[in-house]
Amino acid sequence: MNDALSRLRKLAEADALLRKLEGRLADLHREEEHLRARLAAEDEAWARRQEAHRALRRAATDRSAEVDDTDAKIRLYSRKLEHDILPYKEMEYLREQVTFLRARLDELTEEALRLMAEAEEDERRLQLDREEHLARRRKLEEELSAVARRREETLGERAEARTRREALHGDVPPHLRAAYDRLLSAGNPVVPVQGGSCGGCHLRLAETTLEKVKADREVVTCEHCSRFLYWPS
Ligand SMILES: [Zn+2]
Repeated sequence: MNDALSRLRKLAEADALLRKLEGRLADLHREEEHLRARLAAEDEAWARRQEAHRALRRAATDRSAEVDDTDAKIRLYSRKLEHDILPYKEMEYLREQVTFLRARLDELTEEALRLMAEAEEDERRLQLDREEHLARRRKLEEELSAVARRREETLGERAEARTRREALHGDVPPHLRAAYDRLLSAGNPVVPVQGGSCGGCHLRLAETTLEKVKADREVVTCEHCSRFLYWPS
């Protein structure tokens, strides 16, 4: 292969590698974002789970306090009924209250006990949920570290590839280099001939062009898209 074309092909390979590494970095960045979002969701779910448990505990404590209040009222009213001299109407009222409050006390006690038992049971489940949460969290953190490591490696590879690319870029004769740089934004500037057509734009090439590419004595470009052509080995 003629020297200029061989240098162009090496440069094109270096640029293709750089594109591949950029693509990998973009993928790793997306993966990292995704893992961070999952980690945040995991923490939010765990915060909600803990809050649900605290709410259950609060309900149990509130009900127990109500039991104590009701019990205190019953004792207060009973003492008044036993020891105080009261007007008939007030006495009647207090007796009714005591009857009502005793019935209510039974209900409240039952509810308080049920809620406490529920809170205890939930406490046990909470321990398991905590372990599962921490295990999932650890796994996500590990995955994040792995992504960070791959990112570091890829950044290193990219730095090397860039240095190599700059050296190869400098090796290409200046007039070809300018044309190459113009073509680069549209993808690979150096393409093979494929079945009589340009491997870049896929349009049919003139017989004279094909012959020149095959002869390999000069750098030949596609008459349609100006890409550099080579004959596939
Ligand atoms: Zn073309």
